[in-house]
Amino acid sequence: MDAINDRVKNYLSHVGDELKYYDGWTISTGSATVAGRGVVATRDYNVGDVIFVDVPLIVSPRALGTDGTGSPVCPVCYSVVTMQIGCPGGCQWPVCGRQCADHPEHRDECRYVRQLCPKTKSDGHVWSVGMYNAITAVRGLSIRDGNYKYFLDVLQKKLTDKLTFEVEELKRNISMELDEEDEKIMVTTCKIMDANCFETIVNRSNKSISLKGLYPVASFMNHCCVPNTMHNFNEKQQMIVKASLPIYKGQEITTSYTFSIWPTSLRQNHLLMSKQFICTCRRCCDAEEFGTELASLNCIVKNCEGRILPINPLDKMSIWQCKVCKKLVSSAEMKCFYKHVETLMKNINLFCPKSFEAILKSFNIHKDSPFVVDLRLKFIWKSKNHSLNLEQLLYKEKLCMEMLDLIQKLRLGQCRLLGLISLELLKVIIEKAYRFRWKWNTKTLNVFEEQISKLKEIYSSILDEDANLDNNNIQ
Ligand SMILES: [Zn+2]
Ligand SMILES: [Zn+2]
Ligand SMILES: [Zn+2]
Ligand SMILES: [Zn+2]
Repeated sequence: MDAINDRVKNYLSHVGDELKYYDGWTISTGSATVAGRGVVATRDYNVGDVIFVDVPLIVSPRALGTDGTGSPVCPVCYSVVTMQIGCPGGCQWPVCGRQCADHPEHRDECRYVRQLCPKTKSDGHVWSVGMYNAITAVRGLSIRDGNYKYFLDVLQKKLTDKLTFEVEELKRNISMELDEEDEKIMVTTCKIMDANCFETIVNRSNKSISLKGLYPVASFMNHCCVPNTMHNFNEKQQMIVKASLPIYKGQEITTSYTFSIWPTSLRQNHLLMSKQFICTCRRCCDAEEFGTELASLNCIVKNCEGRILPINPLDKMSIWQCKVCKKLVSSAEMKCFYKHVETLMKNINLFCPKSFEAILKSFNIHKDSPFVVDLRLKFIWKSKNHSLNLEQLLYKEKLCMEMLDLIQKLRLGQCRLLGLISLELLKVIIEKAYRFRWKWNTKTLNVFEEQISKLKEIYSSILDEDANLDNNNIQ
């Protein structure tokens, strides 16, 4: 463990520039961690304190569908490529212009790919989806060729015998034979990426671009459904990890590998599919999830006001039971019911508050069920305040408040979602003021000012950025 700590801190001190954040934690094994290795605090942290700034070993764009669905970003500057040109250097990646093609960081990888002779396209396209999807594999080589080869041995790899998509995409699209040793390293780095990568978000022209990044310290952080950290990214795609809850010396520092506002069944399913493990944290073991009853559906028995919840939330096949009338429902029946509600929700006119509420009422769906949370978030992210009518605007305000309430009940502390929702609520309140300020008396104005400054404080301390008030989307 000492060796790992030395190497990790040595790496950060050479590539990063925030030296002061290396001394409050250690990578360790044993009783302080939930699973094998983990990161443990060696001092106390207050909410909002920066714990470490992690520097990526690899950053790469997300793969596109093999039919080209999805929007490519320039692999050098990560802007959305509007004028698609194939890199003049010959790698057939869609760069945004000469400047990125000639960028020093792209030079070696471009040369490497050119030597493999990418197949020329007969369909007139200037860049190739297959070559684009191979970016992660090619960038994997840079770990071997740099000073940090060590990480190839110590970072966890996804256990699978399946062919590696990125490497196969590369092989399909080049005319030369891939060097055996290179291929081995690429497969290893892709498996490391699969086990450890984080969604890296960068802002480009008011758009949030989602990339994937491999962060050595964060790779050692274990998962918890009530994580005590949150993170943002700076312009260099470095990950700034901060305490979202108070952390005490000796306590494990955790992150979430899934969506914290999903109910246990969905989180478990996601963790099992993507990371091959079952979480047994205190929230997962609590069928009521801190009283939110996220997973529950209202009882199907006529006139019963109870809610149905799984008896054992960690068992996929668990029987469900109504707390009030004790009616038992099988997991198969529940799945059916869930599917039914899901289909129903798909056809809802999201932006019509009255019909939205009417459907929830007639189908007896409670307000924190995952379907409703999902729709609420869609409404919040997708609606543009200035084009909402008054009813919609007030509805959006209510949805934001409900989300803030849910985050608090789930004990998620100063998480990123809290920052994002606070920002959205702030924009709604500003829009309200814009429309009605002239009618407000001093008292109302004071309440307004107070609300604004409170929300500003929350979002700016969480999001680390002077967020652009016009930026309305998160992809
Ligand atoms: Zn570019
Ligand atoms: Zn190139
Ligand atoms: Zn859990
Ligand atoms: Zn009942």
